[in-house]
Amino acid sequence: MNCPVCLKDSTAEILETHTDYINNQEYKMRLCEKCGAVFADPAAAPAAEWYIKFSPARREKFNLRLNWGHRKYFEEDLSFTGKILDVGCGCGNFLYKAQESGYQATGIDFDGRAVAFANGIGLKDVSCISFEEFRNKRANEKFDSVVLFEFLEHVPDPNRFVAQIKDMLVQNGCLAVMVPNADRPLCFRFQQYDYPPQHFTRWTLKTLKTFLGMLGFNIITAKKGSMPYFYVNDNIFYFLVSKILSVIKRCFYSGISYKDASSLPLDTIGEKSGKKVSIGSVPSRYRRILVKILKFFYSIIFFPINFFIWMWFKIIGKSCYIYVFARKIQ
Ligand SMILES: [Zn+2]
Repeated sequence: MNCPVCLKDSTAEILETHTDYINNQEYKMRLCEKCGAVFADPAAAPAAEWYIKFSPARREKFNLRLNWGHRKYFEEDLSFTGKILDVGCGCGNFLYKAQESGYQATGIDFDGRAVAFANGIGLKDVSCISFEEFRNKRANEKFDSVVLFEFLEHVPDPNRFVAQIKDMLVQNGCLAVMVPNADRPLCFRFQQYDYPPQHFTRWTLKTLKTFLGMLGFNIITAKKGSMPYFYVNDNIFYFLVSKILSVIKRCFYSGISYKDASSLPLDTIGEKSGKKVSIGSVPSRYRRILVKILKFFYSIIFFPINFFIWMWFKIIGKSCYIYVFARKIQ
C-alpha cells in the first residue's frame, strides 16, 4: 500500500489495531518501512459530532499562555514581519503574540468558541472554517510564515496537506511544525486521544525532518521538548482510572470482554443489550468533582513513585513534543 506520508509503496507492517467505539470503526496503525512514519489505515477526518461525543464535557478555559512550540518559534532568528497563517490556531494565543511582534495575523480553527475568543482579543482575521474552505476563498494569497502547532497529527493526508501549505508560502517562507513525539513514554494505550480518528500519524524528530526535507524544505531548527512532571503524574492517573472503570464496566454490563472494555474511551461505559451506553449520562459536574477528589489523593500517595519515574525519563532524555522550523527552498 502507499504511505500517506512519503507516498511510496510500503509493506507497512501493522503495529496495533484500534477500535473507535463512537464510529464503530477499526483502524490499523501501520509503520512505513520507507520513511519510518506511523499512520492510520483507513484515514478519514471525523464529523464535528464525533468530537462532541468523544468529549461531551469539554469546557476549556481560554488564555493567552504560550506553549513550548510557540516559545521556540519566537526564539527563531526572524524579523517577525509580513503575513503569518496559524492553521488550527485555537483561541489565538500564538497569533496574539505574533500580531504584537509585528506580524499581520491570520488564523483558522474548527472550534467556534475558540475563534470567538480570538476575535474578542482583537484578532480580526481569525475564522471558523476548514482548511479546504480557506484555500478556496483565498486561493492566490501568499504567506511569509505558516505555523502548525499540534495540527499535523490530525491530518489524514499529510503529504498532500503540506504540499498545499507550501504553495501558500512565499519563496524562502517559513514553516513551523510542533507534534507529539512518538518516542515519548506512557503514551498510546495510556492516551485515548492519541488514536484515530483524532490522530492519524505519529512522528519522531527523524521522520518529521525527512518528510519536510522530501517536500522541498530546508530544516533550520529541530528540537525535542521537555518532560513535565504533570505529564507523568496525569497519564498514570488516567491510565489507572480507565483500568478501574473497565472493571466496573465488566461487572455491570455483560457481553463485553475485559480487553474490549479497557480500550473504550473513558466517556463510554460499554454495551448493554447491543446498545452503546455512555457515561455522558452521568451529570458531568459530579464526574469532574469525583475525578478531582480522586486525583488529589492519588497525587499525594503516588508522589514518591511518580517523582522517581519522572526523574528517570529526564535522565534518559525523553520528551513529549518535537518542533521543526524550516524554510521553503524550491
Ligand atoms: Zn512512508
